[in-house]
Amino acid sequence: MTRRFALMIDPLASDETREDYADTFTQVDAAAPALSVGELSTQRGDGVFESIGVVGGHAQEVVPHLERLAHSARLCDLPVPNQAQWRQAVERAAEQCGSGESVIKLILSRGVEHGPTPTAWVTAAPAADFTAPRRDGIRVVTLDRGYDLGAAERAPWLLLGAKTLSYAVNMAALREAHRRGADDAIFLSSDGFVLEAPTASLILRFGDRFVTPAPNGGILHGTTQLSVYDHLAARGFEAGYDRIPASDLTGADAAWLVSSVRLAAPITAIDGVELPVDAALTADLNEYLLSPRD
Ligand code: PLP
Repeated sequence: MTRRFALMIDPLASDETREDYADTFTQVDAAAPALSVGELSTQRGDGVFESIGVVGGHAQEVVPHLERLAHSARLCDLPVPNQAQWRQAVERAAEQCGSGESVIKLILSRGVEHGPTPTAWVTAAPAADFTAPRRDGIRVVTLDRGYDLGAAERAPWLLLGAKTLSYAVNMAALREAHRRGADDAIFLSSDGFVLEAPTASLILRFGDRFVTPAPNGGILHGTTQLSVYDHLAARGFEAGYDRIPASDLTGADAAWLVSSVRLAAPITAIDGVELPVDAALTADLNEYLLSPRD
């Protein structure tokens, strides 16, 4: 059984190496207040984060998550995290995780207004039970994301490829999906291309070819999608990146939303149009995603 756990990190410069980082960690009571009221992560959502799936105490794909945290930090002009220090913090958190599924979150915040800056912490907690969406699937609706495919390059200050703490829009999209009778959403660019879900990547199958929207800076490059692509390639499938017009969605032979904690959820309908579900392949994908991955 995973106990809730929280570890504050005193962030070191990215190039500072040590044998042991224990004296840069402070374990705090996960149920007690720990942040200053001046925290810019809570005041402005000004920070970046990662959610790592943990299965039976094994934290999945730690390096890709740490690399994406560093990428997000660079995009946000935050100090680049010290990979070895954060890796040790993740190990400490994983030690607290029991036999089931858990989630480890990494947070790097701009810090406290007028200092100190930045602040950083890691938490561990039990994961929700995602058996039903993995097996029975999810209904999704498409929602306009409000920018075109060129926006990330034209306006880098929108931080579109960074996993920032400003997820209010993503959560609002999920509420809108629920209002429309669906479980989840797929964002579309204003020029009519498929992007991603509010908290997951989209993979479509057309015959024996798998495709996901090209990560051109406007969406996150999903660690789970990358892992699924390795697995599909090992099974001899072709899996690639493309610009996908929204009109292609309902012609897919199968589709999934994939993410680190829910893993592969097959899509049963898009905007009310039923989609075929490949139950055997979905079970295979989730079995793979639940196996230890580095
Ligand atoms: N896209 C967005 C916007 C997300 O928030 C997430 C995960 O939280 C993903 C994609 C999937 O990323 P990953 O597979 O690394 O969890």
